[in-house]
Amino acid sequence: MNREILINAAYIVASGLFILGLKMLGRQATARRGNLISGIGMLIATVVTLLDRHVINYTWIVVGLVAGTVIGLACARLVKMTAMPEMVALLNGLGGLASLIVGAAEFMRIRIGESAPVHPAFTAGAIFLAIIIGGVTFTGSIYAFCKLAEWLSGRAVLFGGQHVINGAMIVAMIFAGLVFTVSGDPSTTLLAFLIFTGVSLVLGWTMVMPIGGGDMPVVIALLNSLSGLAACAAGFVISNNVLIVAGCLVGTSGVILSLIMCRAMNRSIANVVFSGFGAKPAATAADGTVAEGELKPISAENVFSVLEAARQVVFIPGYGMAVSQAQHVVRELAEMLEQNGAEVRFAIHPVAGRMPGHMNVLLAEADVPYEQLIEMDAINPLMPTMDVAIVIGANDVVNPAAARDKASPIYGMPIIKAHEARTVICLKRGKGTGFSGLENQLFLLPNSRMLYGDAKSSLQSVIAEFKSLMSA
Ligand code: NAP
Repeated sequence: MNREILINAAYIVASGLFILGLKMLGRQATARRGNLISGIGMLIATVVTLLDRHVINYTWIVVGLVAGTVIGLACARLVKMTAMPEMVALLNGLGGLASLIVGAAEFMRIRIGESAPVHPAFTAGAIFLAIIIGGVTFTGSIYAFCKLAEWLSGRAVLFGGQHVINGAMIVAMIFAGLVFTVSGDPSTTLLAFLIFTGVSLVLGWTMVMPIGGGDMPVVIALLNSLSGLAACAAGFVISNNVLIVAGCLVGTSGVILSLIMCRAMNRSIANVVFSGFGAKPAATAADGTVAEGELKPISAENVFSVLEAARQVVFIPGYGMAVSQAQHVVRELAEMLEQNGAEVRFAIHPVAGRMPGHMNVLLAEADVPYEQLIEMDAINPLMPTMDVAIVIGANDVVNPAAARDKASPIYGMPIIKAHEARTVICLKRGKGTGFSGLENQLFLLPNSRMLYGDAKSSLQSVIAEFKSLMSA
């Protein structure tokens, strides 16, 4: 009894540390410490669980621990920031698989008589949930990983009757789950178990199929949430309170993140999951008209001339800045402009890049002062007063079609109004579209100029012009 109280007290401490850590992750200044505090919570939970579970042999646990540590360290060192969504997809998938295995193992233990649940129907229900949510999360995440890593086409894949087939699979899964929970017959239970496990694995794949392009980060957050719910169900299966709490925290934070992203794109979660957005390439504007105007290239020398005279400058970073790792040179150019008498700001769109806070993290890494980062709603009213807007590898988040073109698939998505600045200088490598695959009228506007090339090298060329003037 005393032992049980002690264990649950340790679990409460661990849960408290998770919640405190999560709260601290919400602010840049405290995020690192928050991560550490949550890690300490997890350490307490793991050690207490290992001591509590009457482990007879630690060999495989140590093997798993060493293998996991080596893989984790290698990933932390080698995976690039731009590949974070792929990495999270893999981690979600493994979390789902772990819950599925816990559910299946408990089912086998009950079947061979090694375990006898106090409430058989409740345990069967928890096993069912751990397996179906874990199964959907596993194959859905693996498919999402393949799309993001470009091992498979990143576009939405649609086929006739997709929603009906997915709906039928959900019904079949629930029916098998009911049979599994109420039937006491061993062979019927085994058949039901095999059916819902198999269907959940297929369903994960087919549910991610019609989602593609810029919607993938939302799917990753949703799968993250599902992996938490699967862990929560696994916690009920093995009666582990801290797993239930941790699963709930992951489940709810994944949903909150998905909602934040959907709101920033002015879309609903249902629209993201079911609409098949981006299934076809959009070569023209959404209403069928071809975008008008011409692309006007500009040289680094001429960009320098424009910037030298500018007094109000705003940088608008996007995914291309992350790809070229241009954040340090951006900061260097910003400092030069300030020395030249300009006021410099950085406009931050909530879904610029490939994950929420992506631009904040990169610019913080380059020591850009936090007060220079201005959120979209605060910068937009100032845009008409900007002499120059420098768009660094951003595309969808500055696409005026989102504000003007009612037929555009991204109509209604809030954007940074780069087009309202007096001069817009767009840094990109060529004619590549953004993640949504849509053309961008911004690049054709009379006040836009294109500085072609990798963003980092382009900015280095502009900086070289500044330096040559200073040394002259
Ligand atoms: P984007 O629309 O994906 O556009 C990135 C642009 O960067 C491309 O047009 C590309 O053009 C350019 N680029 C790529 N590599 C470059 C390099 N090395 N140097 C210079 N330019 C380079 O990016 P975004 O404007 O940041 O928009 C983010 C997209 O992700 C949105 O569609 C958003 O809805 C979606 N999304 C984001 C999140 C999130 O949490 N951040 C969540 C959900 C969805 P070139 O190929 O011509 O160079």
